[in-house]
Amino acid sequence: LTRLYAPLTALAGARVEVMSALVSFERVFEILDLKPLIAEKPDARKVPEGPVSVEFDRVTFGYPSADKVSLASLEDVAVLDNRGGTDVLHEVSFRAEPGQMIALVGSSGAGKSTIAQLLPRLYDADEGTVRIGGVDVRDLSADSLRGTLGMVTQDGHLFHESVRANLLLARPEATEEDIWDALRRSRLDGLVASLPDGLDTVVGERGYRLSGGERQRLTIARLLLAQQRVVILDEATAHLDSTSEAAVQEALAEALDGRTAVVIAHRLSTVRAADLILVVEDGRIVERGTHTELLAAGGRYEQLHRTQFERPKAEQEAHPVR
Ligand code: ADP
Ligand code: MG
Repeated sequence: LTRLYAPLTALAGARVEVMSALVSFERVFEILDLKPLIAEKPDARKVPEGPVSVEFDRVTFGYPSADKVSLASLEDVAVLDNRGGTDVLHEVSFRAEPGQMIALVGSSGAGKSTIAQLLPRLYDADEGTVRIGGVDVRDLSADSLRGTLGMVTQDGHLFHESVRANLLLARPEATEEDIWDALRRSRLDGLVASLPDGLDTVVGERGYRLSGGERQRLTIARLLLAQQRVVILDEATAHLDSTSEAAVQEALAEALDGRTAVVIAHRLSTVRAADLILVVEDGRIVERGTHTELLAAGGRYEQLHRTQFERPKAEQEAHPVR
């Protein structure tokens, strides 16, 4: 089913509670763009130079079932068994041309994050192929994959390290000026400047407690610094408050310029600008097109647009749609 049992098993075995075992998978995913955990082939290749395409070619995938991932407690097995075994993605195909932005929309549980997770190879497809720059991701070296893909997820993962160290992981050669520039663009400069040790303040679970929005902005700063050619944003601005959101959206839009992007968004303003919008439902792409095309089609997107994306009127008046 997947070739990545070893790290998952090791991590899952260390956890006792069901939920933390599941959460730890997500953690692996978030760390992945910084620390390779995947097995690479001895003759692994590099992603070709220049702007790259991202392609899913009839990808079918199901999460590993409990018998394949040996977990520490019986409870874990019971829960995973319920979820495992069935396919979560069915013959998903799409292609983002170099520099294009693809948006994935659809209800919660549809499979959007799962699609995103196959790109950095937290899991591998069971059938079909995922390609970056025309190369099967399974043939790429971990280094090249990591250097090419950047991502921001809903709960930005931070290491128990200084702000500086967390940012330098993205680009070790970044100067002090680069760091402050990224912090400014993600609207974190004020906060970091006011921390007891500034850039050297240790953050993370046992360090200085950043709020959800601050953590997310710090991972966005990391993305701004890293300059990877493919960017995945999985509800990357979900925790931002309305004062910082507009500014951070702008910084993100700027960061996406010239890069190939897969954006999972819950805001119409982001989706509207996409070159291609895919509507995902029950692990299948049920509609595709531009914002205008899909609205005109009057199908699922148009329906989602009305129910999910349209903000309450009062809120729209307070913060006009960008
Ligand atoms: P979305 O991002 O669209 O909300 P997901 O890709 O997170 O949807 O989830 C798709 C389906 O896969 C859901 O049924 C979800 O419960 C299941 N799922 C997600 N993550 C895991 C996991 N780590 N293990 C098992 N099942 C999972
Ligand atoms: Mg999701």
